Amino acid sequence: MSQQEPAQTVLACSQCGRTFAHSDVVQIAGNWVCGDCKPAFLSRVMASGAATVSPLGWRYGGFWIRFGARFIDGFVLGVPLLILAAVLIPNLLRAQVGASNPATPGLAAFGLSFILIYFLVVVCYEVVMLKYHGATLGKMACGLRVVRSDGGSLGWGVSFGRFVMWNVVTSGIPYLNLVFMLISGIMAGTDGQKRALHDRVCDTRVVFKQRIA
Ligand SMILES: [Zn+2]
Repeated sequence: MSQQEPAQTVLACSQCGRTFAHSDVVQIAGNWVCGDCKPAFLSRVMASGAATVSPLGWRYGGFWIRFGARFIDGFVLGVPLLILAAVLIPNLLRAQVGASNPATPGLAAFGLSFILIYFLVVVCYEVVMLKYHGATLGKMACGLRVVRSDGGSLGWGVSFGRFVMWNVVTSGIPYLNLVFMLISGIMAGTDGQKRALHDRVCDTRVVFKQRIA
C-alpha cells in the first residue's frame, strides 16, 4: 500500500462533502468526518446515545419504537381477523341452528381451522416480509429494519427462526409468556445493542433504516 499517492488518499467528508487527504479525516460511527465537522458530528452522535450507535453507523431501535411497530403489526393482522370473524361467526351460528343439529364439534372444528389458518397467515406475513423487505409493515412504518449482526439481510432460516422465537417461545406459551416477554423487553431496553431475546438467539439487530450521517 503506497501511503502518499493522492488519487487513493482523497476521501469525502460525510458531513460537508469536501474532499480531504486520508490523514485529515477520521472515521466516527462508520462515517468519514473532517476536522471542521468533527465536533458537531460527535455531539450529534453523543446526543443520540453513544451506546446505541454501532460501528456501522446504525442506531439501534429501542423498546418503545419496537413496541410501536409490533402494535401496528397487530393492527394490520388483527383488523382483517376481526372483520372476518364478525362476518363468518354469525353466519355459521345461523347455519348450525338451521341444521337443527346441536353439532358443537362442527363449530369447534371451524374454530380450530380458523385459528390454524390465521396462524399460517401470520407466519407468512412476518417471515416473507423479513426475508424480502427486512421489516414487517409495522417496522417499516417506524423506520426500522432487521439485519444480521454483520449488517447482512436475513435468509429464510433466520426469518423463520426469529418468528418462532418471538411468537411461539417468547409470547406464545400461556402464563410463561408474561415472564418471557418481560425479560425480553428488559433485555431490549437495557442492552447496548438493544437486543431482545430473539435477537440474541438469532444474532439479529433491529436498527433504524436511516444511518447516522
Ligand atoms: Zn466536513
